[in-house]
Amino acid sequence: MAAAGLRAEVVAIGDELVTGQRLDTNSQWISRELALLGVPTGFHTTIGDGLDDGVAALRAACARAGVVVVTGGLGPTADDLTRDVLAAVAGVPLEICPRALADVEARFASRGVAMPASNRRQAEFPAGSRPIPNPEGTAPGIDLDRGPSGAGGARVFALPGVPAEMRRMWHDTVGPAILAMLPGAGTITFRRVKCFGVGESALEAMLPDLVRRGRDPLVGITVHEATITLRIAARGAGEEACAAAIAPVEATIRRCLGGLVFGVEDDEIEDAALGSLAAAGATVASVEVATEGRVAALLAEGSARRPGSGTFLGGVVLTDGGAGDEEVAAMARRRRDEAGATHGLAVGRAIAAAGERPTVSMALDGPEGTCVVRHRLVGASDVRIVRVAKAALDLVRRVLDGLPPQP
Ligand code: ATP
Ligand code: MG
Repeated sequence: MAAAGLRAEVVAIGDELVTGQRLDTNSQWISRELALLGVPTGFHTTIGDGLDDGVAALRAACARAGVVVVTGGLGPTADDLTRDVLAAVAGVPLEICPRALADVEARFASRGVAMPASNRRQAEFPAGSRPIPNPEGTAPGIDLDRGPSGAGGARVFALPGVPAEMRRMWHDTVGPAILAMLPGAGTITFRRVKCFGVGESALEAMLPDLVRRGRDPLVGITVHEATITLRIAARGAGEEACAAAIAPVEATIRRCLGGLVFGVEDDEIEDAALGSLAAAGATVASVEVATEGRVAALLAEGSARRPGSGTFLGGVVLTDGGAGDEEVAAMARRRRDEAGATHGLAVGRAIAAAGERPTVSMALDGPEGTCVVRHRLVGASDVRIVRVAKAALDLVRRVLDGLPPQP
């Protein structure tokens, strides 16, 4: 599904990006999304907050590419200069957009605070541009046609730097707008299949040749905190044609991955665990040592998404406690009894035999009996803990769904 001709560039703006305080993950994310649409990215340019640097980078990008996506620098403060950069590059003045001003004011009013004068800036737009709605924050984005005055005639989309805002605006507005720029555009539909239990490359090796650039439907893999998302993207004449193209690909994925698939779309592993418990009329209480409260936090977050379910009866977080299979099984049993739950979930302390990788024992105790598994601590340290916590929730889902306790 290559889009003949259309090429993109990404410009990330922010002093914190070029001083090494923060990694420019927005450019990575945006390029991946562009690739899913079949639009190749030619350049990533990362610059600080200076006006001249911004103008130079934007001019160069517009001269080379048909689409330029900018992130950062849309805030209300004096060092947020993206709107000034765009106006300078397009050779137009900034104008107040009354509708955007009303939106920004309404957002402050809904929080019961007066709008600081500086926020008026967020309603200023280069003349002739269109605001991009920002449902997650105050600063609208900017959609600007850079006219034929200079060397390039690119369309520029400027989004905030805050990743959650940027992503939402991409999905709601920018992605579809770029799609509409493609020849024979049609509709694009996405389907996300969520997996847990193995690493990304092991999972990819289990799939036939689905994850290949340029295939239609296109399957992309992303990993976030040990949860793997397979995103199927299909282009077609309409929603129905896309759905028909997606269905066999999803079926193949499910057949190849079996119990590694725990959900779709926005489902998280805690939603799957709580869903399996609720379907069985069961309840759970947790106790954890090695996981810094992440098991309880995930169960609480999942419970907040299913108000009134009453499935999670509470979590205990210990800084020291049992380790090894038997002790952890006893912890699960005690926790179940003390909370009056049908199931007790326990994650013990990490232990290591000499010269071996540390392991964490986890146990689920319920009417089915006590199921104990030992989880080996592997992978990057920043995701190790959340991976263990998710493995505990995966154990719940697997036991309740009658799957083998470990993949
Ligand atoms: P705001 O309205 O919040 O000021 P903004 O468009 O001005 O939005 P910035 O101030 O540049 O955005 O950044 C806001 C937050 O987003 C900061 O925490 C920043 O570190 C983060 N951020 C900005 N750019 C990127 C990027 N390219 N990759 C990852 N994070 C980023
Ligand atoms: Mg800012």
